[in-house]
Amino acid sequence: MDENVNEMIGNLKSYLEYLKGIGVGFLPISEGDPEEATQVPIVTLDEVRKELGDCSRCKLHRTRRTIVFGEGNEKASLMVIGEGPGYDEDIQGRPFVGKAGQLLTKILQSINLAREEVYITNIVKCRPPQNRNPEPDEIQSCSPFLMKQINVIQPKIICALGTFSAQTLLKTETKITALRGKIYDLAGITVIPTYHPAFLLRNPERKREVWEDMKKIAERMRAR
Ligand code: URA
Repeated sequence: MDENVNEMIGNLKSYLEYLKGIGVGFLPISEGDPEEATQVPIVTLDEVRKELGDCSRCKLHRTRRTIVFGEGNEKASLMVIGEGPGYDEDIQGRPFVGKAGQLLTKILQSINLAREEVYITNIVKCRPPQNRNPEPDEIQSCSPFLMKQINVIQPKIICALGTFSAQTLLKTETKITALRGKIYDLAGITVIPTYHPAFLLRNPERKREVWEDMKKIAERMRAR
């Protein structure tokens, strides 16, 4: 098959998966105005937060202290998506405020971005006990809310931090070591995976690769 057709089919497939993720289960077909027929209702982050409520959709609600929804610029060009809240985040109700968060702030500053300019959130909004990895059912329960956040913000670039973030967004089981260094597309949004700052705290020699990824993000942000 023609390469362009293959690419179009691939893009359409990822767009449909994205729509499914944000809760659009069907595509209305109307004989009227085609614009009207394909409109997805635009909501605000406050509305998404309200819909999430005092969530008990998965077992993480039993052990969490605070839901960590996300914070930052609702109109951000760059969205940073981590794995899930840790101890400090669970207490403060804010993403990336512990040691890994301080490193993330410095990484963003290295490309002249302040935390407030970007939007920061996680794959799961509640802390997994003892900081264990989020489980597939927990990721699945939380995914529609992440997709809605992405839909409201409509960032140009998503920086996926670490294995779980990259694997969830790119729907793959490939390891982060193989995923990083390349650029992906999620329904028109550029996805750049990189190592999680907590991994960098344990493996500072990998900071150089993250710097390479950050330069790509900066380049693409400048290009628009
Ligand atoms: N690690 C994450 O993945 N997210 C946070 O918010 C904090 C640490």
